[in-house]
Amino acid sequence: MASAMSPPGAELSINSSYLCVVKIFENISLRNLNSFGVEACAARLVEWESPQELSRNADGELISSLTKDPWLALGGGNNILFTRDFDGTLVKSAARKIEVTAETPKTLSVRAESGTDWDYFVSWCIANNAWGAENLSGIPGSVGAAPIQNIGAYGAEAKDIIHSVECFSIDTGVFLTLAAEHCAFGYRDSVFKRQLRGRVIITAVNFILSKKPRPNLHYAALAEKVAETGSGEPTLQNISQAVISIRNSKLPDPKKIGNAGSFFKNPIVDTNVAHEIAKSHPEMPLYPCAENHLKTKLAAGWLIEAAGWRGKTDIETGGRGRVGIHPCQALVVINNGGATGSEIVSFAQEVQQDIKSKFGVSLEIEVNIC
Ligand SMILES: Cc1cc2nc3c(=O)[nH]c(=O)nc-3n(C[C@H](O)[C@H](O)[C@H](O)COP(=O)(O)OP(=O)(O)OC[C@H]3O[C@@H](n4cnc5c(N)ncnc54)[C@H](O)[C@@H]3O)c2cc1C
Repeated sequence: MASAMSPPGAELSINSSYLCVVKIFENISLRNLNSFGVEACAARLVEWESPQELSRNADGELISSLTKDPWLALGGGNNILFTRDFDGTLVKSAARKIEVTAETPKTLSVRAESGTDWDYFVSWCIANNAWGAENLSGIPGSVGAAPIQNIGAYGAEAKDIIHSVECFSIDTGVFLTLAAEHCAFGYRDSVFKRQLRGRVIITAVNFILSKKPRPNLHYAALAEKVAETGSGEPTLQNISQAVISIRNSKLPDPKKIGNAGSFFKNPIVDTNVAHEIAKSHPEMPLYPCAENHLKTKLAAGWLIEAAGWRGKTDIETGGRGRVGIHPCQALVVINNGGATGSEIVSFAQEVQQDIKSKFGVSLEIEVNIC
């Protein structure tokens, strides 16, 4: 899994003052640290294990350098596209503890450190009979990145189970805990993509899970799959297995074909605009928007497919065929091999322009471009 990738570059130093705590790598190749598999180099990568060390290691040298030079938190690299070398410090969490912090007859409160593999966390919840994370099975990445875009799939979002997010502020050098209601969670969105972007490192996430069965089968394809795979009441295991089976049938494995899952967000438009488009495309799916009843969500994958891009490469747009849209999943932009981040972005822009001209709809890129 991409989030288990480890830095291939030479480990430069392990300072005895933070032995086993902070590892520093210099001039490191990022090729194995991003799921697109694009080549880029970072001047420095710092891996930390204990949040306290972020504030006090090497007499504050790390923090003072982060306040001056460019820096970026890196998780598993499953939602990042590097378009150039990163001339600064990548900060990566290797803190992976999961602990139960409270328990009531109905709920389990769990704290997971940011370097924990997300899918490992989901498996931990399932093994401990805790409900709420199972629909998010199989999403590659780290726990620390989950709140950033409020990861979601199959009718569930991380915000449904997040109680609070623990961060370290680079600006002030202090730790803060943000309650979920202050995280401005939305569809693939949060305060961490906006006001707090580039200002905090997420160190841990606190979750509240249900000890009582709470199957979420609102997503029709998931309900069908669960019904196929189990008889009687749905269990955590058969929901998770059904999710993974649907995901595997739809999404390319980044180990085989470079990609970052959905490249574009599903556009949210005024409902009257959606109905206007639907007049010429009555087969176009329309979804009510949970956040705003005057808006309608369109399926970016449907628009891209309807515009004829599925399975096409950038040869269509004068490129070298190294970038394309996956033949089975129109929402997924793929690196066919050897593509650069800039080639991927240029191709995505061609798709955006075409969708704008054919449907009048702007597609927003979900992946973080660096
Ligand atoms: C095959 C595939 C399928 C996918 N399916 C889904 C899906 O179903 N639903 C979904 O929502 N997403 C999906 N994604 C996207 C991706 O899995 C998620 O966005 C995931 O949360 C990325 O985690 P990461 O650790 O790899 O983050 P990265 O890609 O390393 O980072 C993503 C962003 O988070 C920031 N960040 C990372 N860690 C921290 C931290 N500790 N503190 C502060 N900022 C941080 C980074 O700076 C960057 O801006 C998919 C990706 C792939 C490759």
